[in-house]
Amino acid sequence: MHMKKITYILTALLIAAIVGLLIWATASEAPGEVSSPPESGGTSGGEASGESGAASESLPPAPDVSESPSETPPETSEDAEEAYAQRVGKEYRIDMTPYLSYVTASDEEYLRLVNQTHLLSSDYVPEDLTDCIHTRKDGRDMQQLRLYAAKALEAFLAEAAEYGYTDVTVTSAYRSYAYQNYLFNFYCEQERASRPNASTEEIESIVLTYSLKAGMSEHQSGLCVDMHNLSQADVSFGDTAEAKWLAENAHRFGFILRFPADKTAVTGVQYEPWHFRFVGREAATEIYEQGLCLEEYLGQTG
Ligand SMILES: [Zn+2]
Repeated sequence: MHMKKITYILTALLIAAIVGLLIWATASEAPGEVSSPPESGGTSGGEASGESGAASESLPPAPDVSESPSETPPETSEDAEEAYAQRVGKEYRIDMTPYLSYVTASDEEYLRLVNQTHLLSSDYVPEDLTDCIHTRKDGRDMQQLRLYAAKALEAFLAEAAEYGYTDVTVTSAYRSYAYQNYLFNFYCEQERASRPNASTEEIESIVLTYSLKAGMSEHQSGLCVDMHNLSQADVSFGDTAEAKWLAENAHRFGFILRFPADKTAVTGVQYEPWHFRFVGREAATEIYEQGLCLEEYLGQTG
């Protein structure tokens, strides 16, 4: 009699448990559909809480992705790279994969002309300054370039090393308006020491043959770099194997020799075999192939 009672109770409990489970299962399924947005929001919130809103908002357009494969680009990046290698008659020795998107940048901002008639404002400071590889280790500050130029330079110097040119170092890259102003005034004082009776205009015109006034220097743009293997920048660098290699290969990395010897009448600046300007690979290659300087390429020779 006692055992029967226990069996009844156990059976009742078992039935209650099964019914309970069934109710819970159907109940948790239905609200699950209704409450799925908050759930997915909560899941993505765990990984990137700041973007959970954006993540759940970007869910609906997902099906669009399945419609796009029909629009395959006519040329893959591999084809494009092969065509480029043929165009310049050379293949990269280094793996360009990590650098290609930087080197091939074609944004207008990288073509900005800065010279004696196209000045940068005194408060212009690039926002993406990045440390420069191979900044000369002689106690000078770490030199910086804008991100894309810095990455392109990294590839450029890595490739140079593959050809055995390992001692070219960066001596100057980004320079602030204030520093360029200091430099120009410093040179003016130096010139005045030997010409006490010269006018300010005369002194400045002498200094302008080798240094630029604040605002005129593209060093303020963070897009150009001085590099060589001499103790001081000197035109004799142009005769070295290093300088020749740099001049002949800069375009493959989006750089141009900014002040060529045969363009001083256009640039108004003496030959500087150490000064390279980033403009992006397509523009740099055209400039190199056509033997232009930046002013000529941009049609700004007036
Ligand atoms: Zn320079």
